[in-house]
Amino acid sequence: MNPFKNLLSLFYPSLCVGCGAALMQNEQFVCLDCLHNLPKTNYHLHDTANNPAYDRFAGKIPVQQAAAYLYYSKEGLGQKLVGELKYQGNVALGNWIGTYLAHEWRNSEFWTDVDYIIPVPLHPKKLKKRGFNQAEVVARAIATERHISLETHNLYREKANTTQTKKSGFERWQNTQGIFNVRNAQLFENKCIILFDDVLTTGATLEACAHALLQCKNIQLRILTLAITTG
Ligand SMILES: [Zn+2]
Repeated sequence: MNPFKNLLSLFYPSLCVGCGAALMQNEQFVCLDCLHNLPKTNYHLHDTANNPAYDRFAGKIPVQQAAAYLYYSKEGLGQKLVGELKYQGNVALGNWIGTYLAHEWRNSEFWTDVDYIIPVPLHPKKLKKRGFNQAEVVARAIATERHISLETHNLYREKANTTQTKKSGFERWQNTQGIFNVRNAQLFENKCIILFDDVLTTGATLEACAHALLQCKNIQLRILTLAITTG
């Protein structure tokens, strides 16, 4: 930390995203207490083809593996981290948590044979309004840390969907189908791909992306999200 920033932080300390405590010099985004209490699923330590994230796609789309890093519950740390990135525009936090995940999961078989990591695309209008795609920020950090290629051009969103927040499972599904497409199906032929999103709720958006990707011959799909809703 530079001396000026050090001095400034005496008067305006950075606060922990989790609990609001003033951060110490060696802490970033969250205090050590919150860091130790990250609500981790640890799916990567068990079976990535048999867990609650995988179950949300079972019988719907042929997914090889699925995993999520954190639990996302109301007022929980997972929700606070995602909110800070998505709504407060804390891109540095997104970069940090992506790197953290990829480092912690460095020995996981989840990355074996993966050719590309693809963030769920935002509609260009929404991207323009928000200024960044939160899923892409985290996916890029993971890609860098795990030496996997990030691909953000081939899968695209054809139309904007209306807000998902207040919709039921079926409405969400209906609202998302057919809104994604692939520009060049050959690019992903015979490739192993991780589709990445920030939060896994019903899985409707990821399912719609998967439908578009499955146009590519012999594609192998894995799904990863930063967080998964509970309950
Ligand atoms: Zn804290």
